[in-house]
Formats: sequence, structure tokens, C-alpha cells
Amino acid sequence: MSPLALRTDHARRTLPIAPGKVVREHVGVLLREHRRPLLVVLLWHLVAAVVGLTGPWVIGQVVGLVTTGRAAITDVGVLVGLLAAAVVAETAATWVARRSSFVLSERIFAQLREGFVASAVRLPLSTVERAGTGDLLARTTNDIDAISYVIRFGIPTIVVSITTVLVTGVATVLASPLAALPLLLTPLVWFLPTRRYLRLAGPGYLWEHATYARLNGVAAETVEGASTVDALGLSDERGVRFAEAIRESHDAERYTVGLRLRWFPWLEVGFFAPIAGALLWGGWLAWDGVVPVATATAVVLYVQRLLDPLGELVGMLDEIQFAATSMSRILGVGEVPPDRVATGATPAGDRLAVEHVRYAYREGQDVLHGVSLDLQPGERLAVVGPSGAGKSTLGRLMAGVDGPRTGRITVGGVPLVDLELDELRGQVALVTQEHHVFVGTLADNLRLPRPSATDEDLLTALDAVDALDWATALPEGLATVVGSGGHELTEAQAQQLALARLVLADPHTLVLDEATSLLDPRAARHLERSLGAVLTGRTVVAIAHRLHTAHDADRVAVVEGGRVAELGSHDALIAEDGSYAALWRSWRDEA
Ligand code: ADP
Repeated sequence: MSPLALRTDHARRTLPIAPGKVVREHVGVLLREHRRPLLVVLLWHLVAAVVGLTGPWVIGQVVGLVTTGRAAITDVGVLVGLLAAAVVAETAATWVARRSSFVLSERIFAQLREGFVASAVRLPLSTVERAGTGDLLARTTNDIDAISYVIRFGIPTIVVSITTVLVTGVATVLASPLAALPLLLTPLVWFLPTRRYLRLAGPGYLWEHATYARLNGVAAETVEGASTVDALGLSDERGVRFAEAIRESHDAERYTVGLRLRWFPWLEVGFFAPIAGALLWGGWLAWDGVVPVATATAVVLYVQRLLDPLGELVGMLDEIQFAATSMSRILGVGEVPPDRVATGATPAGDRLAVEHVRYAYREGQDVLHGVSLDLQPGERLAVVGPSGAGKSTLGRLMAGVDGPRTGRITVGGVPLVDLELDELRGQVALVTQEHHVFVGTLADNLRLPRPSATDEDLLTALDAVDALDWATALPEGLATVVGSGGHELTEAQAQQLALARLVLADPHTLVLDEATSLLDPRAARHLERSLGAVLTGRTVVAIAHRLHTAHDADRVAVVEGGRVAELGSHDALIAEDGSYAALWRSWRDEA
């Protein structure tokens, strides 16, 4: 495997990258959808290009008249008047054409962006965790930017350039096929270097993009874990990681810059060769009287007119190449297969059952080896066991965050992964420390799990978690804008907001992972009361990392090495004198 292939392999291990065929198909669909506006844009550019041809023709005529010495001042005056009219008409047509192509580009870009957001938010959580946030972040920022540029400026440029080049090229050949011969120099000079460039640039840009993803990942990890980095003195290690990531980006950029540096000189030669050729060859033809001076002049001016659009087109080719890799990364997000397909089945009852569940984070390495558990509605089950036994994994599966590899976890007889996400959240929820406050009103934040909730419902939920006082005291009550940039909520208020959302989602079963739950030891006592209010009347699975939770539970499941080793009430397990009894004794002695 070449170093380049090895490096692009890094990208393959993260989120998928759509193959070129998918990208081309998608672009085809986009263009077909906007066929009519695209035709209108094309038509206007065509008008502008045709009108634009008048200028060189008029100048050619003037030169012809003057050199033959038969020029009457009125003839020249008419021609100059014609020239002025042509310039005005060309400007007007170009303005209309550009305006309509910008509008069209913005539409297409908005559509693409909406599509990307839709695929990104429905990504399975496990996929995002495995790929790391850096990759997704890079795709949402760098890649969208790259595409935005090409769509906003590329589509208009390409349409203008292609129509101008074609119309002008045809006009040149029609004026005099013989004098137009130097035009062939351009494709001759360009062919080989461009082919080589296009072949190498695709993989090169993919590599470059992958290194940006890595760099973003390192930056995001470091910022998110800043306090850990500080506490464990990891700053040197992070520095080394940054340096590595930057070096790789630098290598990738050097490589692609190198490709461009070797390609651009040939482009320049290809640009100027036909002008020089047309001047010499046209001059010679006119000198010998093979073509009239007026025609030779017009041809030289036409060839010169080709330069700008041709240059823009080629410049765009590079941007398009870059954006095409971005596009394959953006469409790749939509290629991730869904981790659940709703079957439309409705659960009969609230009973959660785990049946012979196995689960692996990495293929071939199961961390759960056939776990079965039957929850009694309304009971409190504590899951205990040594660290790394699989408790948190079991908790995630019981909340339906991931599906088991084999076996089933059902609620009322229906597997959790067969439920729509909205439906699932009304059945069972994982209580985590995440209490993100979205930018929006307090009411918007609360209504997320139940959009149909009335203001009355929202106030009741806030009351249930002891948050009514501060909520009603906000400047505009429920309509107060919270989140970054709005009214800043305190940590405790944000946690209560998350709890109030749970009350509104009203799942009958809650999975509470102590390691990541709201039960922050620093939390004020009234927060515990708020949590207590949410737990009341629901089935609770508590992943207990502290044994006093187990003592208060109805039943205790001891998980060891990915299996349920013991299951029963605290008293029964103590009487059995197995691992739980040993754990309990050592914990009590330590306490
Ligand atoms: P516990 O909650 O009992 O401490 P976990 O469920 O967190 O145990 O972990 C069970 C096993 O799965 C451990 O060996 C752990 O290393 C592994 N594991 C946990 N999370 C991941 C992950 N995201 N990727 C790979 N392995 C994981």
C-alpha cells in the first residue's frame, strides 16, 4: 500500500466517504431538480456572450476601414455607436444572468446543507462515538465551506465561462477557420499535465481533508478535557499530538500544493500560446492577403476574449476537485446505515426484559456474554460489580441507545430497536449528566420531548422538579430566551431543566448511570430532591458505583465479566454469602 493509500485509509476508518459514483448521481439529481432555473440562467448568459461578440467584430471593421483608407467619418461614427450599444446590452444581460445564477446557487446550497443536517442528526450515537467528533465537526465546517464556495461562485462561473468559451470559439472559427488554427495550441499544451494532475489530486485532497479531521479531533478533545489535561499534567503529551497532527496536515498540503505548482506553469503556457500564435499567424495571413485585416483583427480579439473565462474555468476545476472530495465526505454521512428500523409495533405493557444479550464494541470481543434480566414494573434494580464488568454497557442497551449484537431487549414484547426514537424515549430514558441548554426560549427547551405540551404542562413539570420559583422569576417567564447568548442558567438550573424534560417525556423506566448521572456529588441537596421526584412511580435501573444505592434497591444484579453472577434482594444476597456479600463487607469496612 502506498503511503497515500495508507493515509486515506485513516479516513475510511472514521465516517464513510461516498464513492465518486454517488457524488455524480447526487449532483445529477440536484441539477435535474433545478433544470428550469438552470436553463433560464444559461439562456441569459448565452445572450450576454452573443452580444459580447459585437465588440471585437466592430473593432475589426474599424481597423479594416482605416487600413484600407476608405473610411468615412460617419461610418466610423455608426460603428462606435453600435459598439456603445453592445456594451450596454452586454452589461444588462450579464447583470440579469449573474443575479439569477446567484439565486439558484443559494437555493442548491441551502438544500444540500439541509440534507446534511438531516443525515447528521439521525446518525447512530454509537457511530459518532466510534468516529470521534473531530471528523463530524470537520465535515460540518471545512467541507461545507469548501462546497459553499464552489456552489456560490462555481456554478455562475462555470455557466458563464462555458457559454462564453463556446460562443466565442464558434465565432472565431466562423470568422476564419484558417486564422483560428492557433486555438488548437491550448488543448495540445494542456492535455497531459491536466490529466496527471486530476489523477493525483483526488486522493491528495482526500488525504488533506482527513488530516483536518484529525486536527479538529485533537483540538476538540483537548479543549473538552482541558481540566483533565491540566490535572494529569498531560499538556506535553497533547502538545506532541498537536504537533503530529499539524505535521501531517502540513505534509498533505505540501503534497497538493506541489501538484498545483507543477500543473500551473503548463496552464499559463496554454493560455498565452494561442494569442501569440494568432497574432503571428493572423498577421502573416493578412500580410499575404489570405484573410482580410478586419477578420484577422477580430480573430485575435476573440482569442484574447477566450482567456479570462478559460482561466476562470480552469481555476474552478481545481476548486471543484477540492469540493468534490468535500462532497463525498458530506454525502458519506448519509451512507451510514441506520442502527434501528421502526417496525411500527406498539408495546403491550411496560415490562422491560433483557433476553440472552451479547454485545461487542469491537468485532469478536464481546463485553456482555448472554445477559438476561426481567424487570418488575415499578421496581428499583441496582446493578453492581467491579469496574469494567459491563454495567454501563448494559445500561446503554437497556435504554435503547445501542442494539444488542444478539439476543433482545424488549418493552411490552417489542424490541427497543424496533421503536421510533420518539416512541422509545416515552418508554425508557437514560439519565445522563448531559443537560444541554439549547438556544431558544425556556418553553422551547422544555417542549423538546413533547412538542404538544401546553404551558400548563410545562409549569407542572417545572414544579415537580422544584424549579417553578426561579422559572417564573425569569424576566419573561417561559418565553425567556436561554442558552448561550441568552439568559445564562446556572449549572443546577440546567440540571433541573433536564429533569423537567424527563418529567415531560414521562418514560415509565429510567436507567440511571451513577458514573454519568445527574447525581453530581457537588449538587445541592434540593437537586437530589428534584431527582427523587422524577424517579417516583417509575421503574428504575440504577447502575450503582456506590453500594448504598444497592442497599436501598428492591433487587440487586451483580455483573461480573459481562454476565449476571447473582440476582436477588440485598438481604437474600447477603444471606447467600457470595460475591455481593464480599463486595458489601469490603465497602462497609472501607466506609
Ligand atoms: P462498567 O460500567 O462495569 O465499568 P463498561 O460497560 O463501561 O463497564 O465496560 C465494559 C467493557 O467494555 C470494558 O472492558 C470496557 O473497556 C469496554 N468498553 C466500554 N466502552 C467502550 C467503548 N466505547 N469502546 C470499546 N470498549 C469499551
